[in-house]
Amino acid sequence: MKQLELAIKAVFNSWDSPRAIKYRSINKIYGLKGTAVNIQSMVFGNMGTTSGTGVLFTRNPSTGEKKLYGEFLINAQGEDVVSGIRTPEDLEMMKTCMPEAYKELEENCEILEKHYKDMMDIEFTVQENRLWMLQCRSGKRTGKGAVKIAVDMVNEGLIDIRSAIKMVEPRHLDQLLHPQFEDPSAYKDKVIATGLPASPGAAVGQIVFTADDAEAWHGEGKSVILVRTETSAEDVGGMHAAAGILTERGGMTSHAAVVARGWGKCCVSGCSDILVNDTEKVVVVGDNVFPEGEWISLNGSTGEVILGKQPLSPPTLSDDLATFMSWADEIRHLKVMANVDTPADALTARQNGAQGIGLCRTEHMFFASDERIKAVRLMIVAITPEQRKAAIDLLLPYQRSDFEGIFRAMDGLPVTIRLLDPPLHEFLPEGDLHHVVKELTCETGMNEEEIFSRIEKLTEVNPMLGCRGCRLGISYPELTEMQVRAIFEAAVSVSNHGIKVLPEVMVPLVGTPQELKHQVRLIRNVAAKVFSETGSSLSYKVGTMIEVPRATLIADEIAEEAEFFSFGTNDLTQMTFGYSRDDVGKFLPIYLSTGILQNDPFEVLDQKGVGQLIKICIEKGRATRPNLEVGICGEHGGEPSSVAFFAKVGIDYVSCSPYRVPIASLAAAQVAVEDGS
Ligand code: PEP
Ligand code: MG
Repeated sequence: MKQLELAIKAVFNSWDSPRAIKYRSINKIYGLKGTAVNIQSMVFGNMGTTSGTGVLFTRNPSTGEKKLYGEFLINAQGEDVVSGIRTPEDLEMMKTCMPEAYKELEENCEILEKHYKDMMDIEFTVQENRLWMLQCRSGKRTGKGAVKIAVDMVNEGLIDIRSAIKMVEPRHLDQLLHPQFEDPSAYKDKVIATGLPASPGAAVGQIVFTADDAEAWHGEGKSVILVRTETSAEDVGGMHAAAGILTERGGMTSHAAVVARGWGKCCVSGCSDILVNDTEKVVVVGDNVFPEGEWISLNGSTGEVILGKQPLSPPTLSDDLATFMSWADEIRHLKVMANVDTPADALTARQNGAQGIGLCRTEHMFFASDERIKAVRLMIVAITPEQRKAAIDLLLPYQRSDFEGIFRAMDGLPVTIRLLDPPLHEFLPEGDLHHVVKELTCETGMNEEEIFSRIEKLTEVNPMLGCRGCRLGISYPELTEMQVRAIFEAAVSVSNHGIKVLPEVMVPLVGTPQELKHQVRLIRNVAAKVFSETGSSLSYKVGTMIEVPRATLIADEIAEEAEFFSFGTNDLTQMTFGYSRDDVGKFLPIYLSTGILQNDPFEVLDQKGVGQLIKICIEKGRATRPNLEVGICGEHGGEPSSVAFFAKVGIDYVSCSPYRVPIASLAAAQVAVEDGS
């Protein structure tokens, strides 16, 4: 009884151990009061060769294949399998050495799958040829496995489409969208060892030997591969920080393998070709000794360990994923658009299912080549409106041709183009300006002093809150005119070639209705001019970003001018919290570790504060304009919990990076399933 009491207490106390706290924080598990303890009588797998123990998944958790997948050890206790102390045998082996028990195990697995309507993770023991089922829970799986299992179970008639939608987590899709090696055959002669393909995907990084080092190096912006003899729960922080994990010992159900798979992190486990010496901080492979800091690459799908940095390429989408995504698209009500700045990205976005472009950041187009930057710099230093106009005119053809490409790629879908947003100093190099100034003196005929003084005038104490967004377009109307002309000349030109163009012009950083009115008038005038010059006409919309808290509070007035709203939640978060987007990194880790914040609000929307402003804004905006279209194009547009919030508060669309489109679509479908809508 004393032993039992101590064991129970040990489990309860484990809840507050640093590693459990870290695990919960990484997996965003909040608000639980503690853990429970189940007490079962023991059976013994270590009673000789007619006994054994094993762990299995009812389907392959990596690929989703419908076949029992697990590991087994004769004459062993469960801990021997999962801890990686002994490398276990494939479950197939049990078929021959304990056929009766194996058959019963198979039947039990089928019953359990039918009952739980899911792929199960099962622990069992055989004591003197008699099978005991110890534990059964939903099995952790990779993204690839999750999608295949969901699609197969629908096809097998085990579940319906709506249940399938709930079976795949948005982060699972993130794994599918993870990089692979560009050319696996190219590195064959650089493979230095092979272990178990514990968690698929590819990773490149510098070797570190401790979890603390992994976290520290990662904090310095380095990509690391955590190389360990075996991992334990103490290592979760470092494992999370690492790009990939390599272990010398442990099977496919070892700690490293299971944890990495759950995160979609590349992992090679049980790599007995290597000898890890973490005191000397070296790993020995045959005659070679590799120190900390050496670059290696891991292929988590094949178990290969490769010397050096191998080029990575983005993943391709499978048929199962296409089927699954078509179900999500059928179910969701929220539209999903993409944030795209180039014609090539527009094509990718469309392939990934984007229903339009919700944000085209035009400033990114100015950065595309040296000539463009040069033209922007001429515009920056211009003193007279004539000088500025001449510089701006140089930019017009570039913008026009980019817009043409984007409109073509998005034929028939809306394209939301945002007018120039960043502070002008971003177009000047950091540090030594002499080289640029010299170049500008040749181009403009101004002397160095004049140019320096002009640049000095543009310098801002707090550029994030300075002359950016619509403040730029109001200060330099010629800039807005040029951008709008480029948009409509491009729109007219491609629509004359049979392309259906749906342009939406978006004004950034509006805080007063007067700002918006100023820009809307300009936009409409220029559009009308282009239409009369070309003898064409197109329907288009003019709307605004909602990024300044004041705009949310006077949204009824803003909506008089705006045909649509798009929440720029990056800036809205910045200005609501008063945390600079550029400098938040200095104190955010402290805020997170002390629990002052539970999430980085720039990653996960703060529903209480920023979310409340969003709700007020939608209500006020639609009071003025009941059909007001409302979207969101900040980074939160691709973050699942934020997407769920947006769907619930009546937002029409989210816009996110092309690779996050499927994730946002799934999150939106899951909300619809939960709501029963
Ligand atoms: C935003 O502020 O959320 C936004 C999309 O604009 P940017 O990130 O370009 O400031
Ligand atoms: Mg913004």
